[in-house]
Amino acid sequence: MKLQGNVLKRNSMRFAAALVAALASFVASPNAALAAAPQHHDQAPGFYRLKVGDLEVTALYDGTGVFDPHWLNGTKAAMDGVVKALHEDPHMLDTADTGFLVNTGKQLILVDAGAGAWWGGGAFGRLAGSLRSAGYTPEEVDLVLVTHLHADHVGGLTTRDGKRVFPNADVYVAKAESDFWLSPEIAAKAPKDAQPFFQSAQAIAAPYIEAAKWHTFSGSERIVDGMQFVPLPGHTPGHTGYEFSSKGQRILFWGDIVHAQRVQLQHPEVTATFDIDQTAAAATRRQLLSKLARQNVLIATPHTSYFPALGRLRKEGNGYSWVPVVFMDRWDEK
Ligand SMILES: [Zn+2]
Repeated sequence: MKLQGNVLKRNSMRFAAALVAALASFVASPNAALAAAPQHHDQAPGFYRLKVGDLEVTALYDGTGVFDPHWLNGTKAAMDGVVKALHEDPHMLDTADTGFLVNTGKQLILVDAGAGAWWGGGAFGRLAGSLRSAGYTPEEVDLVLVTHLHADHVGGLTTRDGKRVFPNADVYVAKAESDFWLSPEIAAKAPKDAQPFFQSAQAIAAPYIEAAKWHTFSGSERIVDGMQFVPLPGHTPGHTGYEFSSKGQRILFWGDIVHAQRVQLQHPEVTATFDIDQTAAAATRRQLLSKLARQNVLIATPHTSYFPALGRLRKEGNGYSWVPVVFMDRWDEK
């Protein structure tokens, strides 16, 4: 029995050795091919959706750029702090551009459209692709609500050769905003470095105006059930947020309340050079942040380094901290 056992053991060991050798020769050549496989530099499709009551909200990634610290205006102490923090974390001012899609069940509504080919030298313009990845087409969009007419929020509406990207959509923008950027008289008087903002706004709006798809509001109209205008003046003359509510849950699309989130939440008084009325922009931000930190409102912020660009505010010291929505494979927002 013992001998037989040893033979069996020896045979099984031989078998195992042969198996290992066979496997090794089998995997040798495919393994070499695997090692030569090219690396893939693209990420997961840039969308993330969740429910706010009965609404389906989808964040649509447009691209990422770097915010220049010289575009910020603050006290010397605050700005020295920014330079020091940037030294420790060179990515502190990296910021995405994001638009948002709201499916109400009746209408498909886009809030801001990303930069398209009008801003950022090719770094942006992925929003329409993100929308398709999320299962929708640009043709399906019924309404576009625009927070303001800077090219990084409306550039995605129109191609460089003047075609509407959302051919069936009616675009809505505050009257004060439309009147300001689309006025040839105001544009003519604007400083030279502000001229490109007027030119892009006019070129982007043109095909929608021609198709009678460009609409302005003064704030008292009812465009969408359960949606309220939130005037947020300062950044631009008609800068407007949109607050949707459903079944007791709320979400605010706040446009450019912050550009450099990690600086301006800690120091709400720090403004951006793009704020047309710096004093009003700082006052609007202060009031809004204080209000939102006391309420349970989800915030959709186009410019943040934390995709999916959705989160809440919490009071922290003299400023606020951001509590981001993080990726999960469920979509009910509680
Ligand atoms: Zn802006």
